[in-house]
Amino acid sequence: MKSDYDEISGKRQYEFMEKFKYIREAGTEGEEKAGDEILQTLAESGLTGSSEDFLFSTYEITEERLIVTQPYEKEYQVTGYQRCGSTPKNGITAPFLYAENGDDISLSYARGKIVMINGPVKKAVYQELMDAGAVGFITISGTPIDKGEDLKPAGYRLKDVDETPIQGVNIHYRDAMELVEKGATHVKLILQQKKVRRSSRNITAKIEGSDQPDEILTLSAHYDSVPQGPGAYDNLAGAAIIMELARYFVKNAPRRTIEFIWFGAEEVGLCGSQAYVKAHEAELDKHRFNMNVDLAGQLIGGTVLGVTADSRVCEILSYMMHEAGMGVSIKNEIWGSDSNSFAWKGIPAMTLNRDGFGMHTRFDTIDLISPWSLRRSAGVLLCIAKNLANIEIFPFKREIPKEMEKKLNTYFDEM
Ligand SMILES: [Zn+2]
Repeated sequence: MKSDYDEISGKRQYEFMEKFKYIREAGTEGEEKAGDEILQTLAESGLTGSSEDFLFSTYEITEERLIVTQPYEKEYQVTGYQRCGSTPKNGITAPFLYAENGDDISLSYARGKIVMINGPVKKAVYQELMDAGAVGFITISGTPIDKGEDLKPAGYRLKDVDETPIQGVNIHYRDAMELVEKGATHVKLILQQKKVRRSSRNITAKIEGSDQPDEILTLSAHYDSVPQGPGAYDNLAGAAIIMELARYFVKNAPRRTIEFIWFGAEEVGLCGSQAYVKAHEAELDKHRFNMNVDLAGQLIGGTVLGVTADSRVCEILSYMMHEAGMGVSIKNEIWGSDSNSFAWKGIPAMTLNRDGFGMHTRFDTIDLISPWSLRRSAGVLLCIAKNLANIEIFPFKREIPKEMEKKLNTYFDEM
């Protein structure tokens, strides 16, 4: 007997992915081109896709410099922190301090200084730096074995803070070593940036339910990438998996309505899914479940279902996986991806996620993607989607536990 799983092809998903070996940063030509490619593939699969445009805010850095002024003079390559304002045009010159992990004792020497600390600066550390009277900060990324283009410091965005009186840059590990070893005492920091509006779009396609058209399920995946690499694992693989399911459901009409959504601008703060829930506000009460995919396609890894809903939903999904004999681990928590935007609006949601290597780096390429893995994840997702699309009575309520609602509110407040 032919099973549904026989209709899922890893090879076809892989071939789809081969069309996207380029960077698709939100609001750029790469993302635009990828959106067109998705529309084209939908048309070939017999579905009409729509573009839903939206605007989002981001930061454009125009100057990022760090110069040691005493006791020697040298400029180092740095990457500015986005979203932490600008220094005066000519920069700030101040004594330099290396405060390691930013412990209290080290930071008690920080007043009036530009402070270098390990690791990226997040909300709590930013507050500590301000309280300690630092006038700027430098963070360290990379490893001592990096070579060539990996010596370029990573870029970070400051999140969760309202006021940004001090600015910072990120430097590579090896340069940080040199700064301390050569005994830098004074440095000059220049950071100039501006807030800009850019446009992106979600691509959507709908298959109307034959029997329960007013109950909507969504299958979603973001198709934008970070600027550092072509995001094969994060998340073109997810885009390929839901495309494969779209092909399946064109041929095997579901009883409930299924909407497929390829989100833009996820990497800049879930902007695509936020725009979606806003634009579709009026029909959200019909939404029953969001099945999102973020991070998939590498061979070595494990399938995880991150379920943001009542624990009963986990039990139902677990039962389905037992029945199908497909191994997954299930986690009942909020998830840092587009499924959160649905859960935030009270719609039970999950993200299918496969752990892997090289997220947000130039190493996240199709070289590590495997048709075997794509087929397996698509099989898991198909099993869930098909069951929920066709089951006689929908098996769980449209609600999110109070405790998760609280966590989601905090998550989105701080974005
Ligand atoms: Zn992602």
